[in-house]
Amino acid sequence: MGGERAVYFFGKGAADGDGSMRELLGGKGAGLAEMTRLGLPVPPGFTITTAECIRYYDAGRVLRSEVQTQADAAMARVEACMGRRFGDAENPLLVSVRSGARASMPGMMDTVLNLGLNDTTVQALVRQTGNPRFAWDSYRRFVHMFGDVVLGVDHEEFEHILAEAKRERGVNLDTQLDAGDLERITGLYKERVRARTGADFPEDPRQQLWTAIQAVFGSWFNDRAASYRRMNRIPHDWGTAANVQAMVFGNMGDDSATGVAFTRDPSTGENRFYGEYLLNAQGEDVVAGIRTPCPLTVAQKEPDEDVPALEEAMPAMFRELSDIRTRLEAHYKDMLDLEFTIERGRLWMLQTRSGKRTGVAALRIATDLVRDGLLDERKALLRVDPDVHLDQLLHPMIDPHAKVEPLAKGLNASPGASSGEIVLTAEAAVHAARDGRKVVLVRTETSPEDIEGMAAARAILTARGGRTSHAAVVARGMGKVCVAGCGALTVDGRAGTATFETTHGPVVLRTGDAITVDGTNGFVYRGHVPTVDPELSSDYDLFMGWADRARRMHVRANADTPQDAAAGRKFGAEGIGLCRTEHMFFGDERLPWVRRMILAVDETERRAALAQLAPMQKSDFEGIFTAMDGLPVTIRLLDPPLHEFVPHTREESDVLASELQMEPDAVWRRCQALREMNPMLGHRGCRLGITFPEIYEMQAQAIFEAAHAAHARGVHAVPEIMLPLVGTTEEFRRLRALILRVATTVLGAERDKVPFLIGTMIEVPRAALVADRIADEAEFFSFGTNDLTQLVFGYSRDDAGVFLPAYVDQGILTRDPFQSLDLEGVGQMVAMGTERGRATRPDLKVGICGEHGGDPASVEFCHRTGLDYVSCSPFRVPVARLAAAQAAVRAT
Ligand code: ADP
Ligand code: MG
Ligand code: MG
Repeated sequence: MGGERAVYFFGKGAADGDGSMRELLGGKGAGLAEMTRLGLPVPPGFTITTAECIRYYDAGRVLRSEVQTQADAAMARVEACMGRRFGDAENPLLVSVRSGARASMPGMMDTVLNLGLNDTTVQALVRQTGNPRFAWDSYRRFVHMFGDVVLGVDHEEFEHILAEAKRERGVNLDTQLDAGDLERITGLYKERVRARTGADFPEDPRQQLWTAIQAVFGSWFNDRAASYRRMNRIPHDWGTAANVQAMVFGNMGDDSATGVAFTRDPSTGENRFYGEYLLNAQGEDVVAGIRTPCPLTVAQKEPDEDVPALEEAMPAMFRELSDIRTRLEAHYKDMLDLEFTIERGRLWMLQTRSGKRTGVAALRIATDLVRDGLLDERKALLRVDPDVHLDQLLHPMIDPHAKVEPLAKGLNASPGASSGEIVLTAEAAVHAARDGRKVVLVRTETSPEDIEGMAAARAILTARGGRTSHAAVVARGMGKVCVAGCGALTVDGRAGTATFETTHGPVVLRTGDAITVDGTNGFVYRGHVPTVDPELSSDYDLFMGWADRARRMHVRANADTPQDAAAGRKFGAEGIGLCRTEHMFFGDERLPWVRRMILAVDETERRAALAQLAPMQKSDFEGIFTAMDGLPVTIRLLDPPLHEFVPHTREESDVLASELQMEPDAVWRRCQALREMNPMLGHRGCRLGITFPEIYEMQAQAIFEAAHAAHARGVHAVPEIMLPLVGTTEEFRRLRALILRVATTVLGAERDKVPFLIGTMIEVPRAALVADRIADEAEFFSFGTNDLTQLVFGYSRDDAGVFLPAYVDQGILTRDPFQSLDLEGVGQMVAMGTERGRATRPDLKVGICGEHGGDPASVEFCHRTGLDYVSCSPFRVPVARLAAAQAAVRAT
């Protein structure tokens, strides 16, 4: 034990790690190492690994002594690079301690800047720079950040002290405070720390460093980071790295600055440099919305915007940054997000990572990178996230015919249009969403604590902050509509109002009032404005064409109506993987006949009711065959427990009895007889077909008649008849014989003209076990992973709501197995069933239907397992097409 390397140094062109080591070094550490290796100006530092974070936690929040030894050695190298010493009274080195996980989690974890300052070193900083204002500004910031992140004093308390001081001095901006003010504020901060923690602010730089590193590791486990991980399905056991890095200073005066940039426009994907900066500022000032940042380029400015772009204010720095932009893009072959600081006319790079982007931008960037020759078509497929980006592209927009006047305009931070009731707090958003209400979260600005509220809202509107503000970045990541920096808006939480200054005077809206937000262009409207589905660009067709070429698996849609079938086909479905016939039984004119069929006391009565239903089923099937002309349609025969169709109370039963002109007591007795202890494990699926064969006979007859009629009209119908819940070979054998008999009766001599298959769902574990035997008879398998998950876990899906969220929260399960296939357990059933089935029948067609067919991780598994197709809801079809393509690309 203990030999494992815990610390990776980077600095002056050399680095122990590199960009490929994201898992161990975190995204930030890997990026810093890679930029250092590329020879870019990166302040030296070292990374303590993510593995060490987990070890720290497992050991009961204790760091191994080897970590200290290795970190001391790395610190000596940093000191050598900088010609300064950490903690030195004359020539002190200051550092930042920065968190950085494998996946980017913007603002979720903590960072401390200017560490190493104390009452002695601050004086050295004054002497060395001749700039007391800078030295005290740095110290003030350090006490604030350390007090908040490490010592747990609420950050609002420091904000409050600062605001008071500014008020007393009659100034608005931090930059208007002088050295004396800042020194006094630092003193007040330290007093507050003493009052809150009962101890003096730590003066020893080494103690500062070690407690800060532990706080950064600890921040991985804080509530907001944990809830962000849950929402983004980031495993809890990844851990964060801690990066210790020599400070450079953007707050040294007006020849200094700090900023963030995207190598391309993150909203549109346009190939133009895009970003924001602030003069004489440090760290998070740009994203925190304290001062309004200035644009990076002239092109970014609005026509009437009167602020200097970095391009104008510091042309040489801008040119250097632009060169770095080009080099990094060529190196990473992706759009990047950059953080930089300018210290007295010298540029330093502090971070690079793949930039978060909108769906539109993702598509444009992927296709542009191919056009520019940086990427090939297959690799470009990996630049678009099926779940986030494609899904967002299919988002609605404001109906262009809606004649509406916008109330206000802000920054278009995340596209799509959505409306809902106004809520002013994240909590209210969560509650409302739980009640099924659609809400828009309206805030002055958002902070990481708001994350769950943002997820619960349909859209987010903020009064302050730019396109790189917290609200904007998080919303884009979530694919939520967002308008940020809406200057005309004032939010008053106590009064429960959102007031918009308009040319006609103020408009006061209240909590609960409807509002519409258009994140594509930044407009805000009063009331619910109608929206329409988006037009997909030619880039979309081009890109999806690459995806279709790259994938091996087919993608089908789950559809029960001709409309859904048509929608699926429009989105690229190559067939229907699941048509649930029971959904056809619920229509107003049908339900009475369905009920009569179920309540029938004998076969004769049942047949009479079925005879009424048969023509309706036939026309349903004809509609679907027509919509899917030439493509396979998998039709599942009746599956649900019959009691779903009949009354549960005596009153309802009596109403039904009079409707059906039947004897009330008899109807009620029959209803009760149908009741089951465990309907999901009861009289359903093919068990219905065995006990009431006339039901499946009617359905088979309707299918064959519809197919035959379709062919007569020149429509090529390709039915695949699927038996649900089969567990034994004998069930399948008997029902197949029944269907074949019906085929002969209906089609007679024309049987060859209507091609059809008979197969089964594999959704009972026993079926997966005896799949080799079932495949003797079955021509295809479709894994019904919803029921299969229920039965493999022994979780009732209808009752799992009580415990499953707790299981996911506590990390007993990483994901809800009903949303994403449990590869470890249920996945084995799928793999085994496929393998055994194909051992008997090598050309057995195998697919999956159910919620999982549209989940990228599950789709990837299906690819690896050799399935022929996945089937999902029509709107998820593009997602599944891309996920299938990515799986194929990743596998090569
Ligand atoms: P986050 O992961 O939340 O973006 P970072 O660790 O990137 O947090 O820190 C936030 C900001 O602090 C950076 O964008 C940068 O401006 C500033 N910062 C961090 N380390 C340094 C440093 N060594 N010198 C100067 N500024 C720094
Ligand atoms: Mg941050
Ligand atoms: Mg950062």
